[in-house]
Amino acid sequence: MTARTHDLAAITALGIVVLIEPLRTMSLSTALVAVLANQLGGIAPDIDQPTAPFWRNLPVGGMFGRMFDRLLGGHRFLTHSILGLALFGFLVKTLLTFIHPIMPHVDTGYVWWAFMIGMASHLLMDSFTKEGVPWLLPIPIKFGFPPIKRLRITTGKFGETLIIFPLILLFDIVFCATHYNELLALIHKHLV
Ligand SMILES: [Zn+2]
Repeated sequence: MTARTHDLAAITALGIVVLIEPLRTMSLSTALVAVLANQLGGIAPDIDQPTAPFWRNLPVGGMFGRMFDRLLGGHRFLTHSILGLALFGFLVKTLLTFIHPIMPHVDTGYVWWAFMIGMASHLLMDSFTKEGVPWLLPIPIKFGFPPIKRLRITTGKFGETLIIFPLILLFDIVFCATHYNELLALIHKHLV
């Protein structure tokens, strides 16, 4: 899937978790950093792709991208598995522990969850593509949905841009409309 679809899916997944769970009170800075972390989590697995937006936007990104590509075993490998999810979870937790003193008003627990939800949504979305996802690495089998490859979508082609992306948008509109009261309560009472 493209970064645009992954980011939309990541924020959608975060919205679902936030609105169907009992609402929790958090600082505005926590919410903002959590949304940012969620968006990064949504595209993080594709650091194994030299052409990923992650690298494209950096001056020497192409070089680092190729390096990471080899290090992580190529595209759709380690970073696209449960093992990779656990590895990222550990690395992000460690990073947040280090940077917590410079942003004491941010609850890093929520930020970590937001990142992980974004990353998990990436693996889920990639499962709908023809390439599939090696969820159970080191078992080198790629899983996809539906199981018949021909019925899955091709990244960046009409199946993604004309069906999947608009469907997620439509879901967001319906979901926000049906959870309007929770959304209002979140904004008015739970962000402090
Ligand atoms: Zn991916």
